[in-house]
Amino acid sequence: MKQFLNFINGDFVATAKTFENRNPATNEVVGLVHEAGQAEVDAAVAAGRAALKGEWGTMSVVKRAELLHAVADEINRRFDDFLAAELADTGKPRSLASHIDIPRGAANFKIFADIVKNVPTESFQMTTPDGGTAISYGLRTPLGVVGVICPWNLPLLLMTWKVGPALACGNTVIVKPSEETPATATLLGEVMNAVGVPKGVYQVLHGFGPGSAGEFITKHPGVNGITFTGETRTGEAIMAAAAKGVRPVSFELGGKNAGIVFADADFDKAIAGITRSAFENCGQVCLGTERVYVQRPIFDKFVAALKEKAEGLKIGGPDMPGVGIGPLISAEHKQKVMGYYAKAKAEGATVVTGGGEPAMTGEYAHGHFVQPTIWTGLPESASVIREEIFGPCCHIAPFDTEEEAIALANATDYGLATTVWTQDLGKAHRMAAAIEVGLCWINSWFLRDLRTAFGGSKASGIGREGGVHSLEFYTELRNVMVKL
Ligand code: NAD
Repeated sequence: MKQFLNFINGDFVATAKTFENRNPATNEVVGLVHEAGQAEVDAAVAAGRAALKGEWGTMSVVKRAELLHAVADEINRRFDDFLAAELADTGKPRSLASHIDIPRGAANFKIFADIVKNVPTESFQMTTPDGGTAISYGLRTPLGVVGVICPWNLPLLLMTWKVGPALACGNTVIVKPSEETPATATLLGEVMNAVGVPKGVYQVLHGFGPGSAGEFITKHPGVNGITFTGETRTGEAIMAAAAKGVRPVSFELGGKNAGIVFADADFDKAIAGITRSAFENCGQVCLGTERVYVQRPIFDKFVAALKEKAEGLKIGGPDMPGVGIGPLISAEHKQKVMGYYAKAKAEGATVVTGGGEPAMTGEYAHGHFVQPTIWTGLPESASVIREEIFGPCCHIAPFDTEEEAIALANATDYGLATTVWTQDLGKAHRMAAAIEVGLCWINSWFLRDLRTAFGGSKASGIGREGGVHSLEFYTELRNVMVKL
């Protein structure tokens, strides 16, 4: 059986404690994951610290950037291996993983290598109180050993989104992939060795959160900062751990994002956009829209059209022809989503479509599939409108005015993303300024330029990553003042 080992100081390391990794489309055991304990975390931190003092610590930015380009090229050369690993871990449609997860996973190394190579720091010339001159300039130095704690929904993409800039800035990283998706992070260890990234620069420790590798990494005093993507509740626990030693955190957390469709929107494009934002990756996208607000004149037509789209999505495993929607990540997550499906009914929702489990046969009979689901008719206080579900579902409610749409969008503790559909340019910009989010898409969704800031406001995150913004977290900016 396949073994997912830890990757410490350039070596693959087994441990005595293992847990099963299952394919969510089939529920079959894919392999055994070797859980890291305190001893492995201590060893990885020591190796990470040693690497900062070794060849990696003195390597020129140009050479570091070359190495990261080589990492990206090697991921692309082993594209099929990465794709197979991601599909076995997540069960998502092959077309999705091959167009987004793996290529973006590789691209994350190139983009940040190029940014770090080219971005200047600030510099000022000033007159001193004694009438002389001084120049001051910024010098960026690495943060040190960075803990990278990852979720399962876009495993390679979200992990490299952090590892790419961290390494480009000269840090070393200790990655803790989600216990649900250990494969691509492990495979990346092979890539690091193949292209000659020094030992201890990229390391992987497997396990869970509390009482396991996640907690041990985030509490370790030798870890200089923690970058985390996952649930807001987990972020609170990690922030408490980071308080000891006053270590910085960068958080990309949960959301309960609103999609807003005005009556003047290009109807077909809006329907296509909301179909993606509600159902892509089986709704397991932090940026997804579980709350949709549609202006009253087109409400009924919109609900009918989205219903048709949802019912047209073919449910199945990665290689089913024409598949549009895969499984949820685990039996536990399916139970959570089905719990919300039941709650919506109990709270009085009109179930427009879905609300249950599809009848699956053959190899997918035991996969964690649920039906894409649309509700209407609930008050704003309903659980499925307030809480992040992370499943292929949305509630659609009508609104009348721009002000009402803004108030509805903002009536949440979260503040990650929104998608607004209108052909009125002025209205689009007013909405972008008024909705309290880190990311606002107009007539689009999940359209990204990796040079731009990414992150959430309110309970959806702390800090921004992307482009030069990643440098704010992954480096210390030192000011040097020189009196001439
Ligand atoms: P999660 O918080 O359950 O787990 C994320 C990671 O944290 C896992 O590796 C887990 O083992 C680890 N962990 C759990 N408890 C920990 C602890 N106490 N200390 C240290 N590590 C701990 O999240 P998930 O279920 O894997 O992912 C789904 C969530 O992630 C959703 O809320 C989603 O919105 C969010 N998300 C946010 C973004 C974003 O960019 N804002 C992107 C993707 C996912």
